[in-house]
Amino acid sequence: MNRRELILAGMALGVTPAIGAGQTEASAGQENPVPQPAPGSPPTILLNDYLPRSLYRIPITNINKAKYPVIDAHCHGHGPLSVDEMVKMMDTVGVEKTVIFTGASTVDRFAEVSREYAKYPDRFDMWCMFDLDDFGKPEFEKKSIKSLEDCRRAGARGVGELHDKGRGFVWQFASRRPRRTGRPRPAYAPLNGGPTYTRNPSPPNPNAPNGPHADDPRLDVLWNRAGQLGMPINIHVSDPIWSYQKMDYTNDGLMNGWSWRIILEPGMYDHDQLVNSLDRTVQKHPKTIFIACHLCNLDYDLTRLGEMFDRSPNLYADIAARFAETATIPRFTRQFLMKYPDRVAYGTDVTYNEPFFRVTFRILETEDEHFYERGLVETANFNFNYHWTLNAFGLPDNVLKNIYHDNALNIFKKAQENVA
Ligand SMILES: [Zn+2]
Repeated sequence: MNRRELILAGMALGVTPAIGAGQTEASAGQENPVPQPAPGSPPTILLNDYLPRSLYRIPITNINKAKYPVIDAHCHGHGPLSVDEMVKMMDTVGVEKTVIFTGASTVDRFAEVSREYAKYPDRFDMWCMFDLDDFGKPEFEKKSIKSLEDCRRAGARGVGELHDKGRGFVWQFASRRPRRTGRPRPAYAPLNGGPTYTRNPSPPNPNAPNGPHADDPRLDVLWNRAGQLGMPINIHVSDPIWSYQKMDYTNDGLMNGWSWRIILEPGMYDHDQLVNSLDRTVQKHPKTIFIACHLCNLDYDLTRLGEMFDRSPNLYADIAARFAETATIPRFTRQFLMKYPDRVAYGTDVTYNEPFFRVTFRILETEDEHFYERGLVETANFNFNYHWTLNAFGLPDNVLKNIYHDNALNIFKKAQENVA
């Protein structure tokens, strides 16, 4: 059974029947078919059900607490935990401070979310969103700037996470994943199952126009003003490359790619255009600090991210939700992180749970090889749901300390230096 057959057998792509071991295309069509293999034997394993266990007797390192205090630069909130429970877990695993993306674009909403965390002012940095409600209307500029300034006064320390996965920022809540019931969102392909995107209170109007993308000149005022207010911007452009690639046996990220696939429609930016739009924007606004989250979705092409770093000293990245994607190329990733030791910050992007933290610490700190974390816990699973194995980076202490802590601190400090 080769890998191609396994994938054809496993993915319900609709057309190709599995060809069993010893069975040819010709014999498959004959009147007396070869006996069907027993369920669970290679020709009948669904790719989704393929959960190998490492056969190697090699060191397994359990790290319950990070080696240095952690600043989590990418978190969307306490989720089902209470804030007290979240802080307790932060103490257990060694997270000193967490950036909370409140998702709030108005000061009232920002204040409402911030109140939930007010008991722990030293443990949370609250960030707001851009107010893009009136984008395209004459009042947009004045109103969006006012919302940003109001949120800043109410304590917002940064802006994010902004998303553009192809249709532009006003579509940022347009998940490619549909709700369990109801009609799928128009930008993305319909799917069966998959987790519900609960952070989507109001699906966008399917007739709304696309855009704006990062490099839309109508957004210049907001990028500039955020810089003047000392607010770094966490920005998500594109998505992993496999979500845009052909969904067939050649797709290296297929196991995740199928669930997260993005169907490009006319007028949408593709992966490359999205990355370029950010690259141009960061160069155009050198006094604004940008954090390209998820390694700018260039985990498969870190050289390109490095070139962007070289061009723009105001550009940083976070590694949130890109541990598995880089742990499959540990040596190259390590080289990259050593070459840019002051540019990448730690982030999570999941509801806090200890197993997730332990895996990320293991990947960054140890030299463990060939481990799987599929099915870790439901909330973290999407991060590790690959058929490939994870292999740790074994980062030296100085780089580790930077990624865990100092780089985020430096990002906040650098943003403040630009206050005008
Ligand atoms: Zn995020």
